[in-house]
Amino acid sequence: MRPAWRWPVTQPTKSSLLNVLPLKQRMKIPRQHMLEQCAEERAHNFTEVNLGYSEELAQQEALRCLECAKPACTNDCPVGVKVKDFVALIVAGDYLGAAAKIREDNVLPAITGRVCPQEDHCEGGCLMGKKVQPLGIGYLERFVADYEQRHLDISNLPKAAPTGKKVAIVGSGPSGLTAAGDLVQKGHQVHVFEALHTPGGVLVYGIPEFRLPKQIIREQIDYMRAMGVEFETNVVVGRTVTIDELMNEEGYDAVFIGTARDCRSSWAFPANI
Ligand SMILES: Cc1cc2nc3c(=O)[nH]c(=O)nc-3n(C[C@H](O)[C@H](O)[C@H](O)COP(=O)(O)OP(=O)(O)OC[C@H]3O[C@@H](n4cnc5c(N)ncnc54)[C@H](O)[C@@H]3O)c2cc1C
Ligand code: SF4
Repeated sequence: MRPAWRWPVTQPTKSSLLNVLPLKQRMKIPRQHMLEQCAEERAHNFTEVNLGYSEELAQQEALRCLECAKPACTNDCPVGVKVKDFVALIVAGDYLGAAAKIREDNVLPAITGRVCPQEDHCEGGCLMGKKVQPLGIGYLERFVADYEQRHLDISNLPKAAPTGKKVAIVGSGPSGLTAAGDLVQKGHQVHVFEALHTPGGVLVYGIPEFRLPKQIIREQIDYMRAMGVEFETNVVVGRTVTIDELMNEEGYDAVFIGTARDCRSSWAFPANI
């Protein structure tokens, strides 16, 4: 059952796509290219090269999905995003519903829609790819995530019933953020500790602005704050506070360590915990 706090989703029905276009015709639609800055323009700035789908392009691309009975796209997605369901919601014009459907499995859609290697995951498995080009799943994910960012008021997101459990997340890269998002959706109190002055991990300091704008990361983290996740920066767990202190003195029930292979050896686990 869908948790109570989620944005209401119009459940896609089998007919939502099938009524629109016969299967054979879907295969004839070419994959829609994402708009991007032209080479002359982007050579003179550092802003994002890709500009995303317009609504028209997103609709056209979404129409290509075959709604497979055994969707390899979902099987090949590391977090199991229900691709055909969110794509059907795009076809139905329910873009906020599509975003909510993605968020059931992935709390960072605007980020993964931009930098996840879809060609190795969902798009790599897409059945269409065996005959023609695979569905532009990443492009569509990015479209609905950006639409959600522009249209959803996050000031009053419904919350899950509190479980009374408290979880500390160490590190605010994608793994820490994902764990935080999943846990807060289950009603746990979640506090993220980040050693650096800003949350995001490699997303912030590794991936360049022209590929993943910092503003996108800030917005996704603001959404997580609105879900109830608390962030505390400039805290080096193992130095500023230890895991024993978190568990024994600060009342945390669990600690998730999402520090990756941090090259700054003085911060590394487990030596300093
Ligand atoms: C240059 C570069 C480009 C990349 N581009 C892509 C891409 O386009 N697509 C893609 O899918 N992947 C890409 N990756 C890989 C991707 O960034 C990583 O797989 C991902 O960031 C790992 O996430 P993480 O949360 O495990 O770790 P990180 O992102 O490294 O986050 C770990 C966080 O933990 C914090 N931390 C460490 N120790 C402590 C401590 N003791 N206390 C508190 N906080 C601590 C760190 O400051 C950091 O913020 C790229 C990686 C690099 C380096
Ligand atoms: S495998 Fe491709 S065509 Fe089939 S449901 Fe997934 S995205 Fe649609």
